[in-house]
Amino acid sequence: MLKLYNTLSRKKEEFSPLGDNVTMYSCGPTVYNYAHIGNMRAYIFMDSVRRVLSYNGYKLKGMMNVTDVGHLVSDADEGEDKLVKAGREAGLTPLQIAEKYTGAFFADLAKLNINSPEIIEKASDHIDSMLDLVYNLLDKGYAYRTNDGIYFDIAKFPTYGALSRQKLDENIAGARVDVNSEKRHPADFALWKNAPKEHIMQWPSRFGQGYPGWHIECSAMGMKFLGESFDIHTGGVDHIPIHHENEIAQSEAATGKTAVKYWMHGEFMQVEGGKMSKSLGNVYTISQLGDMGYSPMDFRYFCLNTHYRKKLNFTFEALGGAKTAYDRLINLLLEHKAGGNKLDEGQKAAYKSEFLAAVNDDINIPMALGLLWTMLKSLFSRDIYDLALNFDRVFGLGFESAVVLKEAKRTEKARANDGCIDGGAGDPLPQGVSDLLEQRSLARKNKDFAQSDKLRGEIAALGFTVLDTKDGQTIKRG
Ligand code: AMP
Ligand code: ZN
Repeated sequence: MLKLYNTLSRKKEEFSPLGDNVTMYSCGPTVYNYAHIGNMRAYIFMDSVRRVLSYNGYKLKGMMNVTDVGHLVSDADEGEDKLVKAGREAGLTPLQIAEKYTGAFFADLAKLNINSPEIIEKASDHIDSMLDLVYNLLDKGYAYRTNDGIYFDIAKFPTYGALSRQKLDENIAGARVDVNSEKRHPADFALWKNAPKEHIMQWPSRFGQGYPGWHIECSAMGMKFLGESFDIHTGGVDHIPIHHENEIAQSEAATGKTAVKYWMHGEFMQVEGGKMSKSLGNVYTISQLGDMGYSPMDFRYFCLNTHYRKKLNFTFEALGGAKTAYDRLINLLLEHKAGGNKLDEGQKAAYKSEFLAAVNDDINIPMALGLLWTMLKSLFSRDIYDLALNFDRVFGLGFESAVVLKEAKRTEKARANDGCIDGGAGDPLPQGVSDLLEQRSLARKNKDFAQSDKLRGEIAALGFTVLDTKDGQTIKRG
């Protein structure tokens, strides 16, 4: 039974979808810059939810928006549009900015084995749907007009604040009085803003030229593609108090229905215990990590090791640890692939059900990884390799291709090693011996001395003596 933590109830709830397909909306990127590793943590979380659902046999209808208009520098309707600002600074149009960073974003998703949702839509393609929603809210009396645009009247929606557990009469996050003195409540938010003549992105409406607020985009697009009520909505914890609160208010005021059954939020990634910020110079991208020698799978493994509802502190030391662990994992998988032991059916079923119980407990991937390690440290068995590949449908850590790559590298190395008896002076080593040597070197690296001794015995049986020196292993015939 799959259980998901619902931010709305602050409880783990049993998952039961509204229809045949699981409908899931994920707030997508605002494409004004390269996505950073914190953003990527958010999408690895989205991907894990999707993978667990698929593993449970559900068919997915997921969607992600790409915000290319309306997201102002502050979430609370202040400042310039982020894309307009980035365009002005780079001497490009907002459209060029959007194209550049949308491309880079999806390239990063692919590198990280994040399966893109089934539906991807740009906000600027759906201005009509957003306007329809604004008209609807005005007609129903949930919105009002001011001199700079149309605002949502939160006092008309008494449950406003339920997701973030804030009361209307308290200081609501994101509330700003000074933005527009005509606002009825400081936390009323813009649905539509009038565009001054020089504003680059603007569209005609009943109220003249303008552009949509950021929040209305997710309500309008979610409803359009997934229906008035859908199963799951994901985003980062920063979205809880403003963006998602506003989304609930807009959607539910317009339709009178519950918009989302399960609200799921991923915790933030911090860097060296603090906020990631450009001014601190600690905002990294996947490409930058790549240049420093950390692969996308090293980073993915690093993220998966911490539950999505816990803060994750990024340090290069921790990423380095993840890299070593991932490498070790692939080496062990390689041994299992060639392993001769058999698991009995009961053991296989037990591993599988333990795995399912972990991932179905609110996507507990760290626990599932723990189980994988326990499995890999037992007898070398092809059955374990097969189970690991099955689990990798959820992990998405590219086990199969990484193992193939490693095998190819080993073969290459073994060939290069041939002729290295006694430091290179003797006859070429038989392939089987160099393979065993390679495995033994790995076992020693992993401090698996029992395995290392066993391999020494196997090498001896083939007529060679292996000696350990401070520079590693050397081998002598006889
Ligand atoms: P944005 O492009 O700013 O709209 O953000 C895209 C996604 O990344 C959103 O779901 C945010 O909640 C999430 N996000 C932003 N910063 C971080 C961070 N430091 N850690 C985790 N998620 C983040
Ligand atoms: Zn959104």
